[in-house]
Amino acid sequence: MKFNTVLDNLKIYEAGKPIELVVREYGVDEKDIIKLASNENPRGSSPRVIEAIKKETRKANLYPDDSMYELKEGLANKFKVTNDNVIIGAGSDQIISFALQAKANKHTSILMARTTFAMYEIYGRQTGATILKTPSHTHNLDELLQLYKENPSVSVIFLCIPNNPLGECLDTKEVYNFLDQIDDGTLVVVDGAYQEYASYKDKNKKIDVKDLISKYPNTLYLGTFSKAYGLGGMRCGYGIADSTIIKALHKLRSPFNITTLSLKAGIEALKDEEFVQNCIKENFDEMIKYEKFARDNGFNFIPSYTNFITLKYEDDRKSSLIAQNLLKKGIIVRDLGAYGMNAIRVTIGTPEQNSKFFSTYITI
Ligand SMILES: *Cc1c(COP(=O)(O)O)cnc(C)c1O
Repeated sequence: MKFNTVLDNLKIYEAGKPIELVVREYGVDEKDIIKLASNENPRGSSPRVIEAIKKETRKANLYPDDSMYELKEGLANKFKVTNDNVIIGAGSDQIISFALQAKANKHTSILMARTTFAMYEIYGRQTGATILKTPSHTHNLDELLQLYKENPSVSVIFLCIPNNPLGECLDTKEVYNFLDQIDDGTLVVVDGAYQEYASYKDKNKKIDVKDLISKYPNTLYLGTFSKAYGLGGMRCGYGIADSTIIKALHKLRSPFNITTLSLKAGIEALKDEEFVQNCIKENFDEMIKYEKFARDNGFNFIPSYTNFITLKYEDDRKSSLIAQNLLKKGIIVRDLGAYGMNAIRVTIGTPEQNSKFFSTYITI
């Protein structure tokens, strides 16, 4: 059977390996497996959220409230915007796809850093658009600007602040200077999946969402409950933008695009900021151990503003082999070989998981 030609150049996205797969393929006992591959919150979810989800199962027979009023209100309050500045998605992933469907097609180009969140390119290619990437792996605004000026067909730009999978983070000031030079008609997606971490570590990285979208009505801010809020399994994310953009994106949203349980999870998660702050504090306390471990073992790392750290090898060590050997011992990390980098990305785990990572690493 023939499929649409845009599929010819598409690969199936390889998500972080699930625990079940390591049990099957390597015969490691499930309780000995540590998953440090998908940037999930190692401390789980807020107990308050878990309680609320359990109660909400009574409504499993009903479609969710499609207006998503309560969650939108919660987010509008948090970010000091209004309800009509908010759209909810099955993960912020889904909003990325809406944004691209709204603004990209085979006559346009999409601009991004060379090594950034893979879904920008995957959803981008689905629209038939051309993908433009900077020569540098990390975000380089001069390179982005040059490509933008050379290519009038650019209709969407992605800025991942901080960036996954590398962990670096632009300063808000630099971002604003960049936005000053972008045309009103170009949509700039500011992906803040790890903003909670970055703004905790360094105030210069904090994006004031209200300020962003009022100064730059051509920006779309993305946030998620999957990382700091510990709700990856609930698939709940959001977009915040000028109401003109939100209205356009709503045309692409199917009704009931998140579940009753995800909706409830998001609403309750916003009421337990203390859980989130405690997780973030522990994350950075633990990250220091990884930095020391890297120095002690003679490899480099990218200073990270997220809940993961990228370890870089600049000698004859091979990241793919290291990832493979760790996997055999039940530790799942992400090899960045596919991005043309000799590096692995490790999600910061709990103190126990991290100790096990260090002690296992030196035996492989
Ligand atoms: C995890 C992640 C997302 C989206 O996650 P969802 O689970 O779909 O909300 C978006 N952008 C980046 C950079 C991410 O790392």
